[in-house]
Amino acid sequence: MDDLLIRGGLVVDGTGAPPREADVSVHDGRVVAIEPRSARRAHRVIDARGHVVAPGFIDIHTHSDFTLPLNPRAESKVRQGVTLEVVGNCGFSVAPALPGRATVLREYLASSAPWLPFEETTFADYVAAFPRTADNVILQVGHNTLRLMTAGMEPRALTTDELAAMERLLAEALGAGAWGLSSGLFTAPGCWAEPAEIHALARVLRRHGAAYSSHIRDEADRVGDAVREAIAVAEATGVHVQIAHLKLSGLDNWGGAPRLLDEIAAARRRGLPVDCDAYPYDTASNPLRNLFPRWVMDGGIPAMLERLGRQDVRARLRADIARDGLTNFGRISSWDAVRVAVAPNVPDEEGRTFGEIAQRRGVDPFDAVCDFVIADRGATRILVTSMSEADVRAITATPWVTVGSDANSLATAGVTSQGKPHPRSYGTHARLLGPFVRDLKLLTLTAAVHKTTGAAAAALGLADRGILREGAWADVAVFDPDRITDRATYDDPHRYAVGVSTVVVNGAVVLDGGDHTGALPGRILRRP
Ligand SMILES: [Zn+2]
Repeated sequence: MDDLLIRGGLVVDGTGAPPREADVSVHDGRVVAIEPRSARRAHRVIDARGHVVAPGFIDIHTHSDFTLPLNPRAESKVRQGVTLEVVGNCGFSVAPALPGRATVLREYLASSAPWLPFEETTFADYVAAFPRTADNVILQVGHNTLRLMTAGMEPRALTTDELAAMERLLAEALGAGAWGLSSGLFTAPGCWAEPAEIHALARVLRRHGAAYSSHIRDEADRVGDAVREAIAVAEATGVHVQIAHLKLSGLDNWGGAPRLLDEIAAARRRGLPVDCDAYPYDTASNPLRNLFPRWVMDGGIPAMLERLGRQDVRARLRADIARDGLTNFGRISSWDAVRVAVAPNVPDEEGRTFGEIAQRRGVDPFDAVCDFVIADRGATRILVTSMSEADVRAITATPWVTVGSDANSLATAGVTSQGKPHPRSYGTHARLLGPFVRDLKLLTLTAAVHKTTGAAAAALGLADRGILREGAWADVAVFDPDRITDRATYDDPHRYAVGVSTVVVNGAVVLDGGDHTGALPGRILRRP
């Protein structure tokens, strides 16, 4: 007798093969049979007629390490059909936090993890204390975190000793269960690393059979150079490279998606292990301070806050931004394109743009931005509408571009329901399968499911997930292709997606008839 029989659905198996009607049997955590009109018996039968039965979705780029300890039910993701999240991205991880450095790390990550308690911890202790969760998790260790632990916020190359210390911390984390290293070369202190530093760390990764993912050095005016820098890591070291949330920010770069995709496709044709991911929105989210030139963060957050109060510093910042555009985002239409998402110390302003805030206060928008960073002690997270919809669609329509929300698991109640975060936390995968596939027909349902299941598993090197076949882990999403859609908006982000009826993780039902069962069958996945 099997545990579960998902009967009568249209199986889209994640390989890109045509859909077929079949029953899916699950026993002991695994798929044990996929056959039409199965005669197998099971303790529980789920009627999937009229629904698609797919592998559970892989959210290949998230920051849910900042919220899973607060919301282990991973509700905003599970309700989209997500069964695996890759966390520790963009160079940010909450471990290791060496003795005496936990406060610096908490301060540094306040704009990403405002509600998370921070403690001194090794990576091994962090893994051991990680909560049981509804979905599976792949952990990465962050390069920015490692640099904070070795050289702090010093804007310089590492000494030989510091690099050796960083390599040792990386090896420790990999030994303790980190899947790989993520970098965030777009911001301090990672931005102060030369390619040689990354290549040295990538050689450690290669020795462990581990992977590298990167929020690249620039996503605006120098995005092409930044993509080439990431590809060069694969070329020089043979390590798998995941280019995070591929995009072209800034008005001057709009329309560049086809060329950028060509460049990555060419590297893949040359046999280089390079993948990328994207989320289907034209708006990014970032700490507000990252719009400033990088020098403003020299020495750390308290030094930055002191600097921003000075008129001479503001004059230099204005001049830099007038000349170069916003760091990471290039030229934007106006400060109305920047909106406060989460401001833990100034929550009343959440949801307002800096155009509105400046007008209400009767000040210049740039002064409003600087004043805001100071008032919120550097912890503000913002939304920036910086991409063109045409580029977003071109990237999303590309079958080999995997899907990463770049966002935390949240819930509509409890501590993670605060603020006006990016709706992608609640909507990414449902938006792909609803508006982008069903309504806009940018790609077929089969291709879209493959992007966020089989293609993602291949990018990660996962052999037994991301595809529905006998023997694979039973991570399954059942959804109504006519109904699935995102409902979260920028004004009203805390709204669950609809249309997903059943989600199974490691053989256990976590979403049943659209309701969360409270089950926490997720595991931390380790490299084979
Ligand atoms: Zn990122």
